[in-house]
Amino acid sequence: MTPTPPSSDLHLSATGRRQRSRYPFSAQTNVGRQRALNEDSILALPPLFAVADGLGGHEAGEVASALAIDTLRDHAPRAVDGPALVRAVQAANNAILQAGGAGIGREGMGSTMTALMVEHGKAAIAQVGDSRAYLLRGRQLTQLTEDHSVVAAMLRAGHITAEEARVHPQRSVITRALGSDPNLIVDQFEITVLRGDRLLLCSDGLTGMIDDAHIAAILNSQLDPHQAAIALIEAANNAGGADNVSAIVIDIDEDGPALHPRRRSKLWLWALLWTVMVGAILGAVAFGVSHYAHSIAYLDVSDGGMVTINQGVPGHVLSYSLTYESSVTTVTAQNLNPVDQSTLKQRPTFNSIDEAQSALDDMVRRSDSPALKQDQP
Ligand code: MN
Repeated sequence: MTPTPPSSDLHLSATGRRQRSRYPFSAQTNVGRQRALNEDSILALPPLFAVADGLGGHEAGEVASALAIDTLRDHAPRAVDGPALVRAVQAANNAILQAGGAGIGREGMGSTMTALMVEHGKAAIAQVGDSRAYLLRGRQLTQLTEDHSVVAAMLRAGHITAEEARVHPQRSVITRALGSDPNLIVDQFEITVLRGDRLLLCSDGLTGMIDDAHIAAILNSQLDPHQAAIALIEAANNAGGADNVSAIVIDIDEDGPALHPRRRSKLWLWALLWTVMVGAILGAVAFGVSHYAHSIAYLDVSDGGMVTINQGVPGHVLSYSLTYESSVTTVTAQNLNPVDQSTLKQRPTFNSIDEAQSALDDMVRRSDSPALKQDQP
């Protein structure tokens, strides 16, 4: 067995942490040990990632997968959007169908497509064929996508086991691919990703060579995404490298949208605006109430039974008295006529102290009490 090629032999590789995505990732693809040509194409343009495995052999497979990736890149939405991502995969399907008819590549060429968009804790996947997306969460590996292949259907029907499926002679016969049906149905998956999650996209050159337990062991032991992607490809090649092998590893190292800094600063702006607005409204109301209370007057009767003239509003607002000045007159309430006495109990209000005073004068004139008339010259 020849030694595993060093990472510089990789057909195409990208490792990085671009500005738009906060997630560190590594994308690697390799020709394997037995093929002359790498027909896989991969894309790592955060938040968009994809693996496409070309079908149809020389001058077909590599053309179809490259065309699929190029078309996906040109049509993908800018932010995570499952239905829009599906439309971009359908555009890639149309591009391959048209290219075959126009003499580019070969008629009948095709490609798988596992496309992922992940940003701010949200992931959308669009899937056709037998390339896969996996989620590693808390050391547990889960296959997110469903293979569109004959053996996957047999496995789902319970006719064969997972291990039999992996080595089945018909394992590379796929039931759905880009380039075969203008009305292609694209599977769509959406998940919420959490800090500490790890996502893997890969072609069947990986999953056909090593099983899920082996993939999980590598993802759990290689903490750096670049080392993890390289180790997966090495493991497939060490197991025989029968096919081209691609692996994209993405580490979710931040929380979801609520904690995103841009979002947070917007929330702060709203909170500030609200505080200023509510403060302004309360201030205006307080000023208005105070101004109103200062402008009016009312008559009342003191505890000693004397009529009082008051500036402000009778009673209390939120336990604050709105009476600013109170002067006790020499008029005894009981000496007024009964109708005016009952009016006083209502604490009548007036537009000014002067109006209150003249209303009291009228009451004194109406009364029959000689003592009162003497009091008021
Ligand atoms: Mn393959």
